[in-house]
Order: sequence, then structure tokens, then C-alpha cells
Amino acid sequence: MRPNDFLPNTGFWKNKRVLVTGGSGFLGRHIVERLKDYGATLITPRRTETNLSDFGATLKCFLENRPDLVFHSAAYYGGLGITLKEPGTIYFNNMLMSTNVMEAARLTQVKKFIAVGTACSYPGHLTGAMKESDFWSGPLHDSVTAYGGVKKMMHIQAMAYKKQYGFNAIHLLPTNLYGPYDAFDAYRSHVVGALVAKFCEAHARNEDVMVWGTGAPIREFLYVDDCADGIVLAAERYNDVSPLNIGTGVGTTIRQLVEDLCHTLNFKNKVIWDASKPDGQMAKTLDIAKMKATLDWVPRTGLRDGLKKTIAWYQENLLQASTLRQAA
Ligand code: GDP
Repeated sequence: MRPNDFLPNTGFWKNKRVLVTGGSGFLGRHIVERLKDYGATLITPRRTETNLSDFGATLKCFLENRPDLVFHSAAYYGGLGITLKEPGTIYFNNMLMSTNVMEAARLTQVKKFIAVGTACSYPGHLTGAMKESDFWSGPLHDSVTAYGGVKKMMHIQAMAYKKQYGFNAIHLLPTNLYGPYDAFDAYRSHVVGALVAKFCEAHARNEDVMVWGTGAPIREFLYVDDCADGIVLAAERYNDVSPLNIGTGVGTTIRQLVEDLCHTLNFKNKVIWDASKPDGQMAKTLDIAKMKATLDWVPRTGLRDGLKKTIAWYQENLLQASTLRQAA
């Protein structure tokens, strides 16, 4: 993890009791690191101790720990592979978790609830940079309806709780994340995790690489540490139930991503485009004007720099294990 050298410590977090769901997951662990630096008391229930799909267990955890703030970052999700195969499981698991966690937070008088949503909740017909005012302008893209939809329900829950109980929740919409501790297996990973693994392994074995789709789709990639910074800042500075985008505002085609990976790894073998695999939504980028104005912040890690760090982490932590596994 990097040293805490960027965001000023305002003292906001000192002695606050903060519960982070998914605190040992990909994004959650980066949020936890940041908050630890700031002197918060962290509560990070693990799946084996507290089943968030069970309301009784969830409420017990809240009653025992009495958090002041909650980050709901736990989610059952992944890239196109899993979202196309398991929409039912994605719906059921996430619906139970978010409903239970927010209700337990309300019953135990949590002061602020930070719901980590997703850019997949935006309507599928949008092609330009997606603004928060577009959030309700149409149906979701078919490839992510269950995941984007179930996260959107969390926003409905927050609005309903605000109206009826005065509950204080914010709803954040991060774009596609990547970085250390991401999923790198072919089934669960998003495109960056999947391609970092494929390219590193092919490079090590001097093989060609197969990439899904046409290369034309556009995605916005946010380095996970930056996302954690944005989310923690939003928890301090944003106080409205309406959604807030968290992203770079920079769109990159999958083809460009592949070029950047080839450049970083000095990869000279063939890249084969497998058009039988889905492209998903053709463009997904965020308008970050509201984020800049509200948080007075923009992410600092450019894609090439972030890819370098992710590749280095992958090579140090996972490459050897996965190449040995495949060779066996
Ligand atoms: P999405 O942002 O929800 O569509 O999810 P992904 O990150 O899984 O996919 C983004 C884009 O990357 C899609 O156009 C995929 O076709 C493309 N892509 C190319 N190669 C891969 C791969 O190996 N795995 C994944 N998940 N996506 C890939």
C-alpha cells in the first residue's frame, strides 16, 4: 500500500467508529487503509463471522459495534463473464446484503451511510459522458441489469429512509476499477484484471493472447487507491442523497488499453480479437464536473502509471502461482 502522502488529514476521522463491509475485499481494503491512517477505529466484519445476507446476524454486529459511519462496499459482482452467467445470484446476494446493512444502520442510529454504487446503474442507451442528472433517463444495459439494478435499489432505499426517518446516506457511482487485489481470474475479473493476467502469463510463456470482443467499446478506468481517496473524501464533504460520480472522466477504448499493456510489457506476440465474445455496453464514461466541484479533487493516477503498478503487483504476488498452476 502506498504512503499517505496525498490527501490532507482534516481530523474528521479521529476516534470515529467506522464499519466497512467488504473491508478485506478489493476496494474495501483500500478504504480501510486510508481510514486507519486517519485514526479511525475500524470495524471490518468478515464473511465467516457475520453473514450480511442474514438480518439477525447483521443487526447483532451493528449492536455490538455501534459504528458512527458505515461504508457499504461489500458486493457480489465482477466483469462481463460473471454478470452474464449469474444475474440471479448477483441480484439475490446484493439485495439481501444492502437491504440488511442499511436497515441495521438505521436501527442503530448510524450518523452517515456511504453506499458504494456503480456506474453500471446508468441507463444503457447513453453514449457520452454520463451525468448524475441522466441517472433515471432509461433502462439499464442488458449485460449489467441485475448488478446495476440491484445497486440502484440501494439508492431507492436511501431516498425512502431519508423521507421517512431522516436517514443520512450518500450514494457514490465509481467507474471501472483496477489495481492490486483485483480479481485476475478469467471468470470474475473485469477487463483490466483479466488482461493483466493474460498478457503477463503469455509474456512469460512467449505465447499469443486472445482478447474478447471487437476492441471498440470505451471504458473509464480508475485506479483503486484513487477511488478509495474519492470515497473517503465524499464521506467527509458530500451530504446529499442524490448520486455522485467518482471517476477520471477519461474514456479509453479496449484497443487502446491493449496497446498500453503491450507497450508496458514490451509484448511482441500476436493479439487475437475474439469477436464471438460480448462487447457489453459500447461506451461507459462519467461526467465528473459535480465530483470536482463538490470534492475539490481529481484522481491522480494516469492509466499507464496505474497499469505499471498493477502489473508489478500481479507479477510479485500472483504470476508465479498461476503459471505453475497452469503448467501442472
Ligand atoms: P463491463 O465494463 O461491465 O462491460 O465489464 P468488463 O470490464 O468485463 O468488460 C469491458 C470490456 O472489455 C468489454 O467490451 C469486453 O468485451 C472487453 N474485454 C476484452 N477482453 C476481456 C477479457 O478477457 N475479460 C473481460 N471481462 N472483458 C474483456
